[in-house]
Amino acid sequence: MLKRVLGTKDILPGEINVWQEIEHYSSQVFSLYGYQEIRTPLIEDISLFNRSLGDSTEIVQKQMFEISRDKETYVLRPEATAAIVRAYLENSLDKKEDFIKLYYIGAMFRAERPQKGRLREFHHIGCEAIGSLSPYLDAEVISLADRLLQDLGISGYEIKINSLGCVEDKKKLADILRKELKEKLHSLCPDCQERFQRNVFRILDCKNESCRKIVEGLKLSDKYLCASCLEHFKNVRENLGRLNVHYKVSPFLVRGLDYYTRTVFEISHPGLGSQDAIGAGGRYDNLIKQLGGSDTPAIGFAFGVERLILAQAAQPKELKTERKAVYIITLGDVAAKEGFILLNSLRSAGIAADMDFQAKSLKGQMRRADSLFSRFVAIIGEDELKKGVVGLKDLLSGEQKELKQDELINYLKKGLN
Ligand SMILES: [Zn+2]
Ligand SMILES: [Zn+2]
Repeated sequence: MLKRVLGTKDILPGEINVWQEIEHYSSQVFSLYGYQEIRTPLIEDISLFNRSLGDSTEIVQKQMFEISRDKETYVLRPEATAAIVRAYLENSLDKKEDFIKLYYIGAMFRAERPQKGRLREFHHIGCEAIGSLSPYLDAEVISLADRLLQDLGISGYEIKINSLGCVEDKKKLADILRKELKEKLHSLCPDCQERFQRNVFRILDCKNESCRKIVEGLKLSDKYLCASCLEHFKNVRENLGRLNVHYKVSPFLVRGLDYYTRTVFEISHPGLGSQDAIGAGGRYDNLIKQLGGSDTPAIGFAFGVERLILAQAAQPKELKTERKAVYIITLGDVAAKEGFILLNSLRSAGIAADMDFQAKSLKGQMRRADSLFSRFVAIIGEDELKKGVVGLKDLLSGEQKELKQDELINYLKKGLN
């Protein structure tokens, strides 16, 4: 049998309602906060990510899905932020508006070893607000993420925030980390020994037991922050307080990507096990300039859709399946013709309806109605034909009645709302 590519997933009809629900609520919440959707291509030039994510990040080092063609190297996008900044600059959106809020939903790709909780094709829902350094915006973006989770019925998550400071502060922080870790270098895992020079921040995220112990013993303060970054971070926290967002300041939260500056945040859920992050984000105040634009501050975040679904499933919440459709059951050829016309009338009236296309028995048709989560069955048999009516059964209440065809549609419209 032909198999799907390792690390990818089919989303089957039985699971799709969860996806559609997440997409629906997300676009509603983003609209509420003034964000507009943007869709960028799945493939981008490799240089976009080499330049934005940083040569030393694991994504660039070993997780890019490369496609070589016409002497060019493209990649399947590993994340959306860099692609959106590329689109923002290429389409001169910066010239049209000096502040813009964008959101996106789509597939991302990383060529990593498939393991639990990590796919090669996965999905992100996220947003980017470009053109402001205001600490009100940081708080708004974090509270948006908070509201989205609430609207999706997810609770019990934790929001951690930190400030990396500006580029100079980040250098100071890296120096502090190297100084603190230098003596313990030999006790770190081989990966972290390599990270020590290349990307010391990644050591704080290492899942290795002995690395974690060393990291937990570090004494980190915010003394690497310059006066203006310190003030910015203080304002962000105060604004989060004004919005009643519950959060925890974590000096160990650094995020591995090169472009992050100042505010960074991560949201985790205990229902997800060791890979417990459901979403993360932060400021990237230098990325736009770095990719050829003017000096423009920005902030964004992304949720992993697969992670959101796991967090939702970990909730003690009953997924209600809404019964909204009508299934037409017919007995005999004449009834089938009548039923076929009725089916069309119902759909024209905006009522979801279906019928049997396999000449099934009455029992078979009833079973099918039930497996489709129909709310009503409309029965047409010999009796009903003679009387010129349709027998209608409400599968939720069990109530039965006979209705003329012209009464039927009005009755169903009321009954289904
Ligand atoms: Zn600073
Ligand atoms: Zn390690």
